[in-house]
Amino acid sequence: TARKRFGQNFLHDQYIISQIVDAIAPMPGQNLVEIGPGLGALTEPVCEQVDKLTVVELDRDLAARLRTHPFIASKLNIVESDALKFDFSQLVEQDRPLRIFGNLPYNISTPLMFHLFSFADQVQDMHFMLQKEVVKRLAAGPGGKDYGRLSVMAQYHCQVIPVLEVPPGAFKPAPKVDSAVVRLIPHKQKPIEVQSLQNLNQVCAMAFNQRRKTIRNSLRNLIDDNTFEELGLKPELRAENLSLADFAALSDRIKPLDQA
Ligand code: SAM
Repeated sequence: TARKRFGQNFLHDQYIISQIVDAIAPMPGQNLVEIGPGLGALTEPVCEQVDKLTVVELDRDLAARLRTHPFIASKLNIVESDALKFDFSQLVEQDRPLRIFGNLPYNISTPLMFHLFSFADQVQDMHFMLQKEVVKRLAAGPGGKDYGRLSVMAQYHCQVIPVLEVPPGAFKPAPKVDSAVVRLIPHKQKPIEVQSLQNLNQVCAMAFNQRRKTIRNSLRNLIDDNTFEELGLKPELRAENLSLADFAALSDRIKPLDQA
């Protein structure tokens, strides 16, 4: 039976499964990596199209089942590990970038996104089943409630393309929320560069943690009042009014620590 703490909702709708595999479009010779293969709902059809697939599964019993799977075991490189801590760069071989996919455990999806963004340079693309709300947040532009730190950080690293909506009935057990599949394609050439990702993250965290405050107030400890003016930003704006370019510019102008 499914283990709640591992966020196990197994896909069983064959039509949805085939649509997801079509969206991934796996090809022989590619460096494919699945996070959370579970009972193999996506693993099996992907293995029909390729000769090798790495899977990262935390649940010992599920990993053991895959090791003795009658049809696909010989194609699998099974990593029994926590995807949140796993160093995905060790899977990059002969300059073959990673193609990562998975029907993710929803309880860890946001921290997992941030962990995966740190490998963006080594990734060709990613396809994930997520809570529909999370896909909305990944794809959101300025001006609404879905726009936040996750949107800015995702769009700094990747092009974000919602692919497909999936109802609860496609899973067993059915989750309480709607789901959606998203495609994330890391930028080959970043539209914007920042001096420090940590600073970008910090500015976004501060601004969106108090999203109803003006940026003058929420960023008081990080940004000089003059800086807003110099960047052509009204200090009365709120976080949701700023673009990725605005956040990037602000992150490069954080006050030195001793003045903060
Ligand atoms: N891919 C299967 C499917 O679509 O039916 C299973 C999806 S289920 C939503 C999530 C899977 O991720 C489970 O197999 C669970 O054991 C595994 N998992 C949970 N936490 C994990 C973690 N931190 N690292 C790797 N796998 C994890």
